[in-house]
Amino acid sequence: MATIFTQIINGKIPCYKIAENSTHIAFLDINPIAKGHTLVVPKKEIDYLFDLPEPLLSDTIIFAKKITEAIDRALHPIRTGVIVEGLEVPHAHIHLVPIYKESQNLALGNPIDVSEDEMTKIGKQIAAEVSL
Ligand code: AMP
Repeated sequence: MATIFTQIINGKIPCYKIAENSTHIAFLDINPIAKGHTLVVPKKEIDYLFDLPEPLLSDTIIFAKKITEAIDRALHPIRTGVIVEGLEVPHAHIHLVPIYKESQNLALGNPIDVSEDEMTKIGKQIAAEVSL
């Protein structure tokens, strides 16, 4: 069965989309641990990030860099952190987590409250700053 991220890529499940090209998509994590917590996903369905063929892995990192630049311009965190876990969804992805204060809890699985309206607003703010 297609992963939940493939279903998002195929438009079967909605998402707060940030950007997409022919090989990658970025959208907001629905359980954000910070405002603007974004996932970068290669469209090719491979479970483990480090099983990606090297050219695709490079492209994934470069795509993540461009999305990070957009997050930083839109939301002005101290910086944006990177987490790779992959224990829940078996489809390679990179978490981009804006860090607003040094004491911020960066553990996945401790979502903060962000309303649907705010998710929509944040998604649009970041998307407006993306330059692929
Ligand atoms: P992990 O596989 O442990 O790196 O975590 C998977 C992440 O995907 C979690 O942070 C989830 O909140 C997130 N997630 C799961 N389903 C969706 C979805 N439909 N839209 C956006 N994010 C999702």
